[in-house]
Amino acid sequence: MITETLDLKITRTAHSRLAETDFNQLQFGHTFTDHMLVADYADGEWKNFQILPYGELSLLPSISALHYGQAFFEGLKAYKQQDGSVSVFRPDKNAARFNKSAQRLSMPEMPEDLFIQSVAALVDVERDWIPTADNHSLYIRPVMFATDPYLGVVASKTYKFVVLTCPVGPYFTKPLRVKFETQYTRAAEGGFGYAKAAGNYAGAMLPTRKAIEEGFDQMIWTDAKEHLYAEEMGAANVMFMIDGKLITPSTRDTILDGVTRDTVLALAHDMGIPVEERRVAISELVEGAKSGKLTDAFGAGTAATIAPIGTINYQGEDYKLSDPATREFSNKLFQTLNDIRYGRVSDTHGWNYKV
Ligand code: PMP
Repeated sequence: MITETLDLKITRTAHSRLAETDFNQLQFGHTFTDHMLVADYADGEWKNFQILPYGELSLLPSISALHYGQAFFEGLKAYKQQDGSVSVFRPDKNAARFNKSAQRLSMPEMPEDLFIQSVAALVDVERDWIPTADNHSLYIRPVMFATDPYLGVVASKTYKFVVLTCPVGPYFTKPLRVKFETQYTRAAEGGFGYAKAAGNYAGAMLPTRKAIEEGFDQMIWTDAKEHLYAEEMGAANVMFMIDGKLITPSTRDTILDGVTRDTVLALAHDMGIPVEERRVAISELVEGAKSGKLTDAFGAGTAATIAPIGTINYQGEDYKLSDPATREFSNKLFQTLNDIRYGRVSDTHGWNYKV
């Protein structure tokens, strides 16, 4: 890969909001840091990389992202290490997935170096915003969208790339009651469920709202054809421990290839736990819940971290799982994951990108 060097202009704010921000009252994604990074794509190249005070962008109402949905995003986190240094967790994986999403939506890719350097440059400027409390971090949100100001269903020739950062605490704070969603579909074979396309999240909002109205915290999406196999949990991958084996749906068109998922599978391997990536039938999970062989179940994602599932519901029937506090695997996993991300143990996999 050609190593690109980021040509970046930095304009710092004259009025930092850091001192007036209450880090004990962070609502996920509501507090933005002082700055953002923006860049433009035109004439076949990425240019005008700038870090500016966080604020409004000036855009025409005709830009194609608003009409035809050429827009996608990424999500990753920076952590304040025990020794005071700062690292971003596995940004190379997000850079690669960024380009997979770009390809699928007929949008321009970005050299991985430029993506990583953009993220790192903004985190560097905002390093004082990274919370130090347990389970807190700086959430990083890169987004790309189409800016051609014409109507017409064709791929835009111009795009904007923006990176935002938010200090965050935990996304979920209690074990989740989830249902298998058997009416609505998140993604189908041949579609773009594997891309972090904005539209995938828009389509999930109505079913999610209905699930919440029915008293659930989240749903487990099932396959589009038969609604018989588990796919993902909300905006996280889903994992189960059955009979001592870690089982998770294999990645395919309909499933986002999660960075946390990949990380968990590597750590399970380190712990000597057998892993199966395959189709996971709802019937197998319900049976496991009834027999007690299903000993662990959780969502895995950057925002969700390791989110324990307390109860699963299928066709109106609740199946209560073991008390999350007693679950050996996911508790050890969460501990190990945090030890690595906060620099409390040596990073043998090389996952922490120092800023
Ligand atoms: N699935 C979906 C649909 C998601 O939006 C996310 C969050 N990015 C994940 C899975 C988890 O991916 P990651 O571990 O990379 O955050």
